[in-house]
Amino acid sequence: MIPAVLPTYAPADLAFERGEGVYLFDADGRQYLDFASGIGVDALGHAHPRLVRVLQEQAAKLWHCANLYRIPDQERMAERLVAASFADSVFFCNSGAEAVECGLKMARRYHHANGAPERYRILGFEGAFHGRTLATIAAGGQAKHLEGFGPPMDGFDHVPFQNINALRAAIGPETAAILVEPVQGESGIRAIDADNLQRLRKTADEFGLLLFFDEVQCGMGRTGKLFAHEWAGVTPDILATAKGLGGGFPIGACLANERAAAAMTPGSHGSTFGGNPLAMAVANAVLDVLLEEGFLAHVQAMGNALKARLEEVVAAAPNVFTEVRSAGLMIGLKAVPPCRDLVERLRREGLLTVAAGDNVVRMLPPLIIEEAHVEEAASLLARVAAEVA
Ligand SMILES: *Cc1c(COP(=O)(O)O)cnc(C)c1O
Repeated sequence: MIPAVLPTYAPADLAFERGEGVYLFDADGRQYLDFASGIGVDALGHAHPRLVRVLQEQAAKLWHCANLYRIPDQERMAERLVAASFADSVFFCNSGAEAVECGLKMARRYHHANGAPERYRILGFEGAFHGRTLATIAAGGQAKHLEGFGPPMDGFDHVPFQNINALRAAIGPETAAILVEPVQGESGIRAIDADNLQRLRKTADEFGLLLFFDEVQCGMGRTGKLFAHEWAGVTPDILATAKGLGGGFPIGACLANERAAAAMTPGSHGSTFGGNPLAMAVANAVLDVLLEEGFLAHVQAMGNALKARLEEVVAAAPNVFTEVRSAGLMIGLKAVPPCRDLVERLRREGLLTVAAGDNVVRMLPPLIIEEAHVEEAASLLARVAAEVA
């Protein structure tokens, strides 16, 4: 008999009752070090006092009114994102896929408004992940996500990862934009080199394309800058973000510069829930913390510390792990045995991680971790690595 919950997931037989900071607790009170963060969502850990307070205060005032009226906290959040980034304008939605979807529509609409409606195709790298809607599985282009869902939505082309020559060769008269994740997450923490991001910007400019970054996973401080592309000193025209943005409240955002956004006139796009007062109160509170003096420097420091410790563990267990891939607190351990087995063993030891593509054990700890959590994770990992070896 089919489970009452549509069986699209295969969850571990484990449920949590509460969370506090970097730890989760099951009903028996057993403690887990959460280096999964709900797939990079719980950026400020669990039950962050400031987020709890803001959510409770807003819950007693106003949850939702739709975008029929002005939403002051939405305006404030947009203004702050604009001030802190390349962007001039922001659309709020409720998930990563929706944020990407907005950007895809924007890229097409831009060319339509600029007298080139034939330009609608989006070019990206193989191994991409942009979400699970019909448009975003086509944008990702992965066979395992497309299978059985009919003809993939038209308008997406893919070239091998980081192959800029192949990308340039694939640009045609119908190409509208280049869409990439500056750090591929689901495919196993694969960062695009800074010089290649710069070449993507130059290529987009040369051919009149928009440059669209999917920072749903690598954005919002995850790599130690507010957005991952800042490390390369390039700016996109469009950017999708979500995961960490709401600290656990479902929020997505599509940021754009004025040129890219100009054609998105009233009625061209929308979301009933997007940017509602409850979500925006929380998002502003998340941003308060991310933008606090020294916070991103802390993320960088913890990223370096974690990388250094994990490299020691990996070096000591070469038949279990072969490589540490990292971008701030976005970490991948390339595994020899099946990564899912390792994730399960780690969970049994009390360390939560996430399996990723390319047989990688992924760590996306809350950005608030301290040295002690780095040590704890490294020693749990070392124990499991020794067991498996
Ligand atoms: C998770 C993710 C998405 C999809 O986000 P949802 O909130 O699951 O729709 C899109 N792009 C990237 C890079 C992601 O990591």
